[in-house]
Amino acid sequence: MPQDSVFGTAAAHAESPTGPVSQGNAPAAELGASFERPALAHLQLSTKARVWGDASGSALEPSQSRTWSPQDRATFRSKFGHRCMFCGLESQALEIHNRNQNHGDMRPENLGPADPLCHRWQHLGELGKGNALLVYLPDLSPRDASHLLRTTLVGLLSDLPAMRAGARKVLNWMASHQSYVAEAWGSSDPAAFAAALARAVSEDRDRQDLALSNLALVIHPDSLRSEVAHWRKELDGRHREASWADLHHRVTNAPT
Ligand SMILES: [Zn+2]
Ligand SMILES: [Zn+2]
Repeated sequence: MPQDSVFGTAAAHAESPTGPVSQGNAPAAELGASFERPALAHLQLSTKARVWGDASGSALEPSQSRTWSPQDRATFRSKFGHRCMFCGLESQALEIHNRNQNHGDMRPENLGPADPLCHRWQHLGELGKGNALLVYLPDLSPRDASHLLRTTLVGLLSDLPAMRAGARKVLNWMASHQSYVAEAWGSSDPAAFAAALARAVSEDRDRQDLALSNLALVIHPDSLRSEVAHWRKELDGRHREASWADLHHRVTNAPT
């Protein structure tokens, strides 16, 4: 399946060009400004950084030391165009992530907006027992996996029985791929992977990133209730055309 084509539509919403029309032959200097967007960050599974020098080797960096006022948060999010740094989702409900995984490092350049799904990819050690699974989905880019799961979770709340049934099928299909992970690694529990990542020294970390590159995160719908309800409102108009039977067919019959 060609990546970035099937599920990217939710986020890859082209903005209509509203820049000024050029005068005469010379294009206006501002022309194209509407299309300027920062490149997306690579989405990969990760966990909080260890506290450097901690004797137990298991202490993780504490969470944000700075207290964010609602005003601070609003300013920060609008600076990034309300767009997830990993998958490009446009949303008014993005969280703030510390890029280097050190949550005590509050330098502005270390902060980026992430939607609740992509953000969870970065916090494998804090998801809570039973709330998430790691699945083997080599044919989906991490970005597509994030968009697919989000679309599916929203579909579960649909008023239409056929859409709910289709969403359940896709969710079950995604979750069933945890068996490959459990077989190969002995567990599909994100916390087990987080513990291994936190222990790894930096050279191992590169190897582990490679090994994790075909894995995706599936979150239990119950642990994202308020987020999903919010996405439902935001995504409503964009998913009305979706055909779940077609989506399920395309996902499960993707050519390899
Ligand atoms: Zn995202
Ligand atoms: Zn974070």
